[in-house]
Amino acid sequence: IFLTMEGPDGSGKTTQILKLKEHLMQHGYDEVVVTREPGGTVISEAVRGILLNREYAEMDDHTEALLYAAARAQLVAQVIKPALDAGKAVISDRFVDSSAVYQGMARGLGVEKIYELNGFAMQGIWPDLTIHLDLPAEVGLARAKSRAELDRMEAQSTAFHEKVAQGYRDLAALAPERIVTIDATQDIDAIHAAIVDKVEKLLAA
Ligand code: C5P
Ligand code: MG
Repeated sequence: IFLTMEGPDGSGKTTQILKLKEHLMQHGYDEVVVTREPGGTVISEAVRGILLNREYAEMDDHTEALLYAAARAQLVAQVIKPALDAGKAVISDRFVDSSAVYQGMARGLGVEKIYELNGFAMQGIWPDLTIHLDLPAEVGLARAKSRAELDRMEAQSTAFHEKVAQGYRDLAALAPERIVTIDATQDIDAIHAAIVDKVEKLLAA
């Protein structure tokens, strides 16, 4: 089973993934592989360093989209595909929908173009379920700001982050069977319970 966690910066993806992993391990999955994008392999983490470096303000949108796709290609080949082939559960902190929203919608490159480009990187691997943590852009940004210095993406304009938050809602509406939206302004345990409910429904189907 391949699950992905999506949402704006500061939406609580990392916290919820750790809780979901624990839940799955208590309910029959001995091995749950948790990974993140961009990153998750030595090469992909190196690409992440380029993508999030604030010194690279001149980065072209097309370059950005290709670098995210390159990081994804290595992660799929080295981590996600082998784990799924071995029957493990995989949870990824962001995946292709981040590119659909950040590069396709917020940068304006187009969602179709981004999915087409990423097809090459994904080798046919799509999430079984994508959990979208929905919250207002400014709430997420305030959280991101409080925990660390902002990276190149987080340092984009408020308008950019509002496009991201709205983009996720629009994307979820386009693929309602795969992407489930959860109100991420709730407390941590309520969000976790809502996620478990969706995942259990998938496992029972
Ligand atoms: O750790 P976090 O998920 O916040 O780091 C990923 C960063 O990269 C985020 O700031 C997000 O804005 C950005 N990103 C992006 N496009 C993607 C994936 C991530 O702009 N396709
Ligand atoms: Mg971030």
